[in-house]
Amino acid sequence: MKIDGQAALVSGGGSGLGAATARKLAALGAKVGILDFNDAAAQAVAGEVGGVALKVDVSDAAAVDAAIEAACEALGQVPRIVVNCAGIAPAAKVVNREGEPSLDVFDRTLKVNLYGTYNVMSHATRRMVALEPLETGERGVVINTASVAFEDGQMGQVAYAASKGAIAAMCLPAARDFARSGIRVMAIAPGLFHTPMMEGLPEEVSAKIAANVPFPARLGDPGEFAQLAADIVGNAYLNGTVIRLDGAVRLPPR
Ligand code: NAD
Repeated sequence: MKIDGQAALVSGGGSGLGAATARKLAALGAKVGILDFNDAAAQAVAGEVGGVALKVDVSDAAAVDAAIEAACEALGQVPRIVVNCAGIAPAAKVVNREGEPSLDVFDRTLKVNLYGTYNVMSHATRRMVALEPLETGERGVVINTASVAFEDGQMGQVAYAASKGAIAAMCLPAARDFARSGIRVMAIAPGLFHTPMMEGLPEEVSAKIAANVPFPARLGDPGEFAQLAADIVGNAYLNGTVIRLDGAVRLPPR
């Protein structure tokens, strides 16, 4: 699908991978709606790219529906491109230091990462299916963000890996669900990228992580994620699969 002239939704577009994707899609001619619960960050990126910002918690299905409705109105068209980047990465072992299950962390992580992705995907695609197909037969494309943790989750990443494993697992059945509507569903599983999520780590930890990456031995640049998202939109034969974008890294246990 050509990006120029389309509308796009980017969840988590106020920061990191989402912000880079919003910038890339806008540079390629899309009108971008940014869904993020950090209103100031979303407004700043929207202002920069000439898009619109919608403050929303993606784990709240009704609020997502309302935000997408508002985005459609503000953008003047139903978005055919959806990139889900909103997410959180708290660390917790299955049983915490007090000997209790870390159910609160598990619950919150699944609600934001998995249900949030499902909410944006479902409320965007239910509008997309009513659009006229493009000359390629496509009505739209959804790109969800997993993580390499879907295959090699580290110690303390049970909740995060479970959420990202589910995002990876739903890619193929979702693509099958929407095949008759001409909507593609893809997932990107990033390795370790230089974003505010990673900047929270101590310097020595992030240096150790970078040294584990075979080539290039550095953290990924958010622009490289955005480039892949744009390439997925542009390539109509990519569907129903998860792409690892990781410099060949395989995460060690810790
Ligand atoms: P980030 O923290 O820089 O950005 C995440 C954005 O999501 C923020 O703007 C935040 O406000 C928003 N957000 C969080 N919870 C939300 C909610 N409930 N509702 C609406 N918005 C919400 O993180 P990032 O590094 O850009 O990560 C983006 C995605 O990529 C996440 O899903 C993350 O798990 C995934 N990922 C990141 C890396 C990495 O190395 N940075 C690696 C693998 C996967």
